[in-house]
Amino acid sequence: MRILKDIMNNKGRGRVPVIKNGKLAGIGARIDVLEKMPRILSKMRAFVPKKLMRTINAIGGYADVAGINAFLTGGFVRDILLGVKNYDLDLVVEGDAILFAKILKEKLGGTLVVHRKFGTATLVKKWPSWLGPSIHPDSEFKIDVAAARKEKYEKPATLPVVRASSLEQDLYRRDFTINAMALKINRSDFGSFADCFGGMRDLEKGVIRILHDKSFLDDPTRIFRAVRFEQRFGFRIEKHTERLIQHAVKQEMFRRMEDQRIREELILILKERHPEKAVYRMKQLHELRFIHPDLILKRSAKRTFREARKCLKWYRVAAVRKRKIDEWLINFLIMIENLDLYQTEEVLEKFIFTNNVAMQIRSYKEQERLVRRRLSQGGKVSPSLVYRFLEPLPQEVTLCIMAKTGSGVARRRIRKFFTEYNGIDLQINGHDIKKEGISPGPRYKEILRKVLYEKLDGKLRTKKDELKYMRKVIASECGNPRKQAP
Ligand code: ATP
Repeated sequence: MRILKDIMNNKGRGRVPVIKNGKLAGIGARIDVLEKMPRILSKMRAFVPKKLMRTINAIGGYADVAGINAFLTGGFVRDILLGVKNYDLDLVVEGDAILFAKILKEKLGGTLVVHRKFGTATLVKKWPSWLGPSIHPDSEFKIDVAAARKEKYEKPATLPVVRASSLEQDLYRRDFTINAMALKINRSDFGSFADCFGGMRDLEKGVIRILHDKSFLDDPTRIFRAVRFEQRFGFRIEKHTERLIQHAVKQEMFRRMEDQRIREELILILKERHPEKAVYRMKQLHELRFIHPDLILKRSAKRTFREARKCLKWYRVAAVRKRKIDEWLINFLIMIENLDLYQTEEVLEKFIFTNNVAMQIRSYKEQERLVRRRLSQGGKVSPSLVYRFLEPLPQEVTLCIMAKTGSGVARRRIRKFFTEYNGIDLQINGHDIKKEGISPGPRYKEILRKVLYEKLDGKLRTKKDELKYMRKVIASECGNPRKQAP
């Protein structure tokens, strides 16, 4: 362990740790961690769009001018090797990352978000059209810049103390071998490749492997990350790594970790293309109890996850008034289905979701059953009644109800809401009420709402009809308004 520490502290130059099955197996001689790897360059040419390649080359040039070494790393390198589209650049520099990020902003434009505490910065740019359609709607193109750093965990499962370091030390602090490779992009040495822990081998074998035995104790969020990558790529968590997960779960490591970090990892899982795969794997590894001890995932939820995806796809095409939908939130509602309102409040308190998200989750728990029952009832339910049920709900909640309901009639009503009722506008407005001598106030909203309900039920066609009905509403509410007006 001492030799390993020396190497990681840069005293053991010329030697590298040899990790086998996540354990230190010995110390090998190091020639240089960087080697030429023509295969990765040809993969890069095949998968990275030309303009992005030019941007990467330019960044390498700026690094030369700044006199620092710059590397692509993490998910970007992993995904090039897998041939998966991933245009977010993960950069690590041996030098001042924030300064370098400022240079990038000057040269490339965009908005810079600096995290001074961690010595990192993210350059965010509008999704360039030359990258083709973005993978997620409303995506942005991001360049993350971090200084090569070494993390020391003073206590397990707390945030580490961060210090500047060399590339190897930076790679050693990473989660899994497949995320711990780096590709140099300085012009003079473009394409030199560092793979100190067998990331390439594990990618070929389809294996998720931690870098050292203390990894999950240092940062238990990796337990969730392991599942996310395993299920996303159809890999398997390597046996020893899985044993370490089981060990960490038994030790209830999460108790000691900040809940917000679990929340962020959970959201990332729920944003995956097929989140149910990871969610069920979490169940198998007993990880769900860290969300809530009473959380039980029924088998039937699998179908609901799939239905929700279909509903959302349909919504994005067919809805007359489309809003930006938080897909992960729909998946979360499905995931916590068995929790009652009280248990849900415990989850909300633990993870400190934003007010808006917490409001949506509460709204689902409070309304879902009632709305679903009302919408499923036979006989005539007027469009205005459907509108009254659904309009106040967040659309994530309505989509979740749509995915969950087994009732054809409820689904038809929800579809009608999204494709028709929700797009109906009045031709009259507050000015028309004012002309009737009513002084402005909350009553305006009430009057307009009543007219809208009548229109939804197909009883008003023209503006004249609306005006006539509006006057009727006013008269029924307060007699002849003209007489009452001051
Ligand atoms: P994705 O494709 O989901 O964005 P990613 O690998 O790019 O995956 P990020 O969360 O963006 O994931 O992290 C970037 C890199 O930072 C990772 O590839 C990994 O090397 C490192 N990393 C992120 N989180 C951790 C962690 N908890 N522990 C160690 N290394 C981490």
